[in-house]
Amino acid sequence: MNLILMGLPGAGKGTQAEKIVEKYNIPHISTGDMFRSAIKEGTELGKEAKSYMDEGALVPDEVTIGIVRERLSKPDCQKGFLLDGFPRTLEQAEALENLLGELETSLDYVLHIDVPQTILVDRLTGRRVCPECGATYHVQFNPPKTPGKCDNDGAVLIQREDDQPETVKNRLEVNVEQAQPLLDFYEEKGYLVTVEGNRNIEEVFNDIDERLQHLS
Ligand SMILES: [Zn+2]
Repeated sequence: MNLILMGLPGAGKGTQAEKIVEKYNIPHISTGDMFRSAIKEGTELGKEAKSYMDEGALVPDEVTIGIVRERLSKPDCQKGFLLDGFPRTLEQAEALENLLGELETSLDYVLHIDVPQTILVDRLTGRRVCPECGATYHVQFNPPKTPGKCDNDGAVLIQREDDQPETVKNRLEVNVEQAQPLLDFYEEKGYLVTVEGNRNIEEVFNDIDERLQHLS
């Protein structure tokens, strides 16, 4: 069961990833985790990646792909994997195709959790933070008992710069521009499964689950 999970920020990727991993017992491989563990294990590629990251530079594709190769070659990936955050570019997608060919396997599905951007803006701008204790709330999904005030200390909740509508819209736009060529690429290859993500968590998961059952 070789899967890639795609979706814009706020689409519920993390939640669905947890549910997939729990039910099908495959590792959830996010780019960040992969880099952190390569660096922690002190592999050659991990050291190389760290030297770029320490300078605040982008890690070059050949290093990233090498780290993906090391990760996918580990025994826990024998039954499959759920890749999250990789690939990000067409070049990386092509390299992943080659890599899976070398490993004598291939992708099964690219699961795309699709949520309209207007709804994502609502989801992402609803977060409120307590400046005193750091507690986070969401005006819609996790509201404080008294609107606008922290449950712990009564402080007036604030909206972070990152959660302001203009910032959120720009972030989504950048993500759409990055994701679209990948979605086209995988659709052409016949791997793309688009799941309507603007529903409750269980409904979204049931759709995904239906597609995965015959693979296990
Ligand atoms: Zn507080």
